[in-house]
Amino acid sequence: MELSGNYLFADIAKKVQAFKEENPEANVISLGIGDVTQPLCPAVVEALHKAADEMGQTATFRGYGPERGYDFLRNAIVENDYRARGIDIDAEEVFVSDGAKSDTGNFQELLSDECVVAVTDPVYPVYVDSNVMAGRRIVKLPCTAENSFVPGIPGERVDVVYLCYPNNPTGTTLTKDQLKKWVDYALRNDVLIFYDAAYEAFIQSENVPHSIYEIPEARRCAVEFHSFSKTAGFTGVRCGYTIVPKTLNVPLNRLWSRRQCTKFNGTSYLSQRAAEAIYTPEGKKQIRATIAYYMENARLMRETLTGMGFTVYGGTDAPYLWVKTPSLTPAPAPKGEGSSWRFFDWMLHSAHVVCTPGAGFGPSGEGYVRLTAFGTHEATMEALQRIKNKL
Ligand SMILES: *Cc1c(COP(=O)(O)O)cnc(C)c1O
Repeated sequence: MELSGNYLFADIAKKVQAFKEENPEANVISLGIGDVTQPLCPAVVEALHKAADEMGQTATFRGYGPERGYDFLRNAIVENDYRARGIDIDAEEVFVSDGAKSDTGNFQELLSDECVVAVTDPVYPVYVDSNVMAGRRIVKLPCTAENSFVPGIPGERVDVVYLCYPNNPTGTTLTKDQLKKWVDYALRNDVLIFYDAAYEAFIQSENVPHSIYEIPEARRCAVEFHSFSKTAGFTGVRCGYTIVPKTLNVPLNRLWSRRQCTKFNGTSYLSQRAAEAIYTPEGKKQIRATIAYYMENARLMRETLTGMGFTVYGGTDAPYLWVKTPSLTPAPAPKGEGSSWRFFDWMLHSAHVVCTPGAGFGPSGEGYVRLTAFGTHEATMEALQRIKNKL
């Protein structure tokens, strides 16, 4: 398979730039942004200041840290993200990282180049591109309204499956029963699951699992990736973690440890102290408030767009909404461009609102656009009002 040029966000930026140059008075609002906008919470800022002061004193200065992360953070992760939910994870199974993008991209180094890799379609591009760079074959599992965005078990032999829930880009989730089917399939067929839980903190519904290890047998077949990026606004701070159980059917814990000790020198002490702070009582309360702020945007977007007649998926347990593109113009799409790009153009030119064309996330994304709830309330409401006025 060929590596795509992956000019999605560059193409979008170019189109937005061109529009702004032609329409300098237009106030363009982006609902396409995949980055957070709210600042770090006070508990995190305080922890960063304190850690910086420690670094300036001989007695408390820290140099190279342990490659797998400091015990204070690994223990906080185990206690709060696992034991508090009745899940048995050991600190030796936690690998602190500089974020989930690097780990989801790098973990494939432990696989043979012959491995066949399944991904959902649409998909977070990192899983595909990192494996294509290694020369592996990719099997795409379409997720559309027709199958309620629940990927079907592959019809052919695959070795690895990447699952991301709550999902980027569709904002949809799997129930515990739906996820258990994947775990059962993986165990029966010696398949490894790479589970990306980057949006776990946005889950509001009761029956949506926060971790794949809520299904106990998953300890034998699944690696789980976490990030503080969306949970606590760490996109610029950089910190995440990966769980590699010692009970996996293949001994990846030792291998990943070996790989990390060779190629990674650990996450900065400051980032790890900052991450530790989100597990304090104040930190928990503060990050919950920021997530509630984004989820209020999501609720407003969902209700308003549905009220306008749009078909909207996601947005209840994730900061993303996956919106079916309506047929706005009877004219045929420009050559090579499907309805998601046409709708993108309409939104930009009519409402001065930026969205992300679904086709950019894979062929099954055609016919949808992704909107994000990461904007401010004011900008989000203004964008919705403009769409309403222009329809
Ligand atoms: C944002 C995001 C991440 C987090 O990446 P970081 O490197 O931790 O910032 C991981 N997976 C998905 C699907 C994401 O959208």
